[in-house]
Amino acid sequence: MNNKELIKKLREQRSLERDEFRKLLTEMTEDDEEFLYKNSREVRERYYGKDVYIRGLIEFTNYCRRDCLYCGIRASNKECQRYRLTHDEIMDCAKTGYGLGFRTFVMQGGEDMTISDDEMCRIISDLKTDHPDCAVTLSIGERERESYERYFTAGVDRFLLRHESVTPEHYSSLHTASQTIEKRLRCLNDLKEIGYQTGCGIMIGSPFQTVDHIINDLIFMKEFQPHMVGMGPFIPHAQTPFKDKPAGSLKDTLHMLGIIRLILPNVLLPATTALGTIVPNGRELGLLAGANVVMPNLSPTAVRAKYTLYDGKISTGAEAAECLADLKERIESAGYELAVARGDYAGQDISL
Ligand code: SAH
Repeated sequence: MNNKELIKKLREQRSLERDEFRKLLTEMTEDDEEFLYKNSREVRERYYGKDVYIRGLIEFTNYCRRDCLYCGIRASNKECQRYRLTHDEIMDCAKTGYGLGFRTFVMQGGEDMTISDDEMCRIISDLKTDHPDCAVTLSIGERERESYERYFTAGVDRFLLRHESVTPEHYSSLHTASQTIEKRLRCLNDLKEIGYQTGCGIMIGSPFQTVDHIINDLIFMKEFQPHMVGMGPFIPHAQTPFKDKPAGSLKDTLHMLGIIRLILPNVLLPATTALGTIVPNGRELGLLAGANVVMPNLSPTAVRAKYTLYDGKISTGAEAAECLADLKERIESAGYELAVARGDYAGQDISL
C-alpha cells in the first residue's frame, strides 16, 4: 500500500500494522502530509467543529522530588530558582483567567511533596466554589491512588500524566532509577479507573527515541484510549544532562499529531507551547494537523521565567490578556475559533 492508502486505512480502522506505521512515519512526502492533515482535520471537525478549547495553565510550583533527565525543574538543578504560589495567588490567577474567558484551569507543577493532600484539596474545592462552571485539570505527576481519589472527590475533572515512553529501556534512559514505566502505567490506570478524563503522551524526538519506540507508543495509546494526548517536541534545557541533545523536529511532531487524531478521533489534543517554541507559527500548524486545544500561561508574570522545563519557552513576558488576543488572532488565521467553554471530551463515538 502507498502512504495515501495507509492514511485511508488508518482513518477507517484506527490502527495499522507495525510495518505500515513504520512506512508512514519514515517515508512521508509533502503530498502525503497534505493528505494526512486533510483527513485529520476532517475527523477533528466532525467531533469538535471549528472550536479550539483554551486551558489556563497555572504553574503553581517548580519544586520537584524527581530528577527527569530532560526537565529544567529537576531536583538536582541547583540553579533553578524555586517558587510556590500561595493559595491566594492561585485564586487570583483563576479569577483573572475567568474574566478572560478561560473555563478550564490546569494546575501544573513539579512533584512538590510539601503541599499536602489536604492543602491540594482545599485549593481544588475553592477553585470549584469560585468557578462552578469551570473544569479543573491536575498535572502534578505520580501520587498514591488514595491521593488521586481524594483530588477527584474534591472536584478535579481531568489529569495529565504523560507516559513519556512505553518502551521500558527508553523510559529508563530518560529517568532515574526511582521511576519506572510500570509505576507510570499503574498511575495512568488508576486515574482512568477513578473516573478522570485522563491524558498521556510523549515528547517527540526525545534523546534515544527510535521509530520503534514511537510505534510502541502509538500502539499503547490506541489500547489505552486516553481522553487527552500531550505531544510536543523535546527541547534541550542548558541545566540538564541532555543540554547538548538535539530538539525534536516540527515535521515529526506534526506527523504524530495527524496520526494520533486518526487513531483517537475524539481525543483532546493540544498544540503545545513547546511546538510554538521551536517555530513561531508552530501552534497554528499544530491546529492544522489535527490539534484542538491550546494552553496559554496564566501564571503570574513574575514567576514565569522560573518555570522553565526547556530553553526558550515562549510567553515569558506578555500579560495573559495580551497573549490571549494574539492567540485568538492566530487561531482565527488557521480558520478556527477560540471557544469559551469547558471543552470536555466528546464521548459519543461518531462513525466515520
Ligand atoms: N511534573 C509534572 C508536570 C510538569 S512536566 C509531570 O511530570 O507530569 C510536564 C511535561 O513537560 C512532561 O510530561 C514532559 O513531557 C514535558 N517536558 C519536560 N521537559 C521537557 C523538555 N525539555 N522539552 C519538552 N518537553 C518537556
